[in-house]
Amino acid sequence: MLTPDDNALQAVRRRHELRVLNSVVAHGNRTRRELEGDTKLSRTTLSAIVGELRQRGVLSEESQEHYAAGRNGRPTKVLTLNPQAGAAVGVELGRRRISVTVLGFDGRPVHREHHGTGGADSLDAKIQQSATLLQSLIAAGKINPHTVIGMGVGVATRHANPASLADGDERQSDPEGVTLDPLRTVLQAPVLWDNNIRLAAMAYGKRSGELLYVVLSAGVSSAIVSNGTLQRGSHGIAGELGHLSVDYAGPLCWCGRHGCLEVFLNEANVLVEAAHRGQAFASIADLAAASAAGNGIASNIVDWAGELLARAVLNACVLLDPRRVVIAGELSQFGEPLLHPLRKALAGQRLGLGQRDIDITTASYSPTTGSDGAAQMALKHWTFPGGM
Ligand SMILES: [Zn+2]
Repeated sequence: MLTPDDNALQAVRRRHELRVLNSVVAHGNRTRRELEGDTKLSRTTLSAIVGELRQRGVLSEESQEHYAAGRNGRPTKVLTLNPQAGAAVGVELGRRRISVTVLGFDGRPVHREHHGTGGADSLDAKIQQSATLLQSLIAAGKINPHTVIGMGVGVATRHANPASLADGDERQSDPEGVTLDPLRTVLQAPVLWDNNIRLAAMAYGKRSGELLYVVLSAGVSSAIVSNGTLQRGSHGIAGELGHLSVDYAGPLCWCGRHGCLEVFLNEANVLVEAAHRGQAFASIADLAAASAAGNGIASNIVDWAGELLARAVLNACVLLDPRRVVIAGELSQFGEPLLHPLRKALAGQRLGLGQRDIDITTASYSPTTGSDGAAQMALKHWTFPGGM
């Protein structure tokens, strides 16, 4: 167990380390002399930190003939980032799959993989399963535990309480009823977790300024990313677009309000709505295919869904003025026709939202989006909070 003194020392060392890494990431490579100038660290401190980073396999030092020779005529040695050194690990414990993403210090993916969970596994079982997976990745050399400085975990459960989120190395409280200790043990790195859908948004929000990310599947989930940072609000529910009412006279939602977007645009209800209109579809994929093929009932359903979505998203756009809106989840298979009413609504208002470029797209499917975003959050949190 670390004492507060150990923690304080570690925090100082980590800050120094990050100054060195920040400089190497920003410039691609750096001589020791340049690092001294960039980091303002003493030669002794710098030497100790560079030595440790080399030992851990984060940095390597090479003679580079094409760089200017030093004063003594020998080639200058430069420090570069090991492109295979993982800085942050992201894990998504989804309903149907577990995925892992390893990102390097420069934010590039070093490794990705995903596996099915085999059905109705408990969260505890998934945590154990992912710890075993990480162990095997370490054994296979895909993850070097000495270079990883933090882990992000996306969990298919309620959002994390923002009051419990870590700053620096403080420990965040675990999701209700489970412990993330098996993951902490396997990597010996600090862990941050949040709702998996919310973390998936981080995979899109990296460089897009204000982003609104909406997932339409079994329910409606959404997240706001502002300048690369996930917005959680005061109680952890910021961006819950699913509970904006799109019809005050509509059916009662479990949240206590009437006509919430989620009451209408959950997968099951969309299929029920199609059946009411005269045609049963086995799945959203079937419905999307029928709509694309010109089936009248299916096309009407897509229009209906698009109108409801537009009501909620337009309200959110007025509030957030986003640069980008990404629609993901099963219903995003409806494609462009689902987005049409939103584009029209944005063009029709006179607040200036429509005139600006709001990039509205459906998400391209990737099984590792959740872990990509989780790793992105960890990288942001533990490495370069000021941006890279
Ligand atoms: Zn509701």
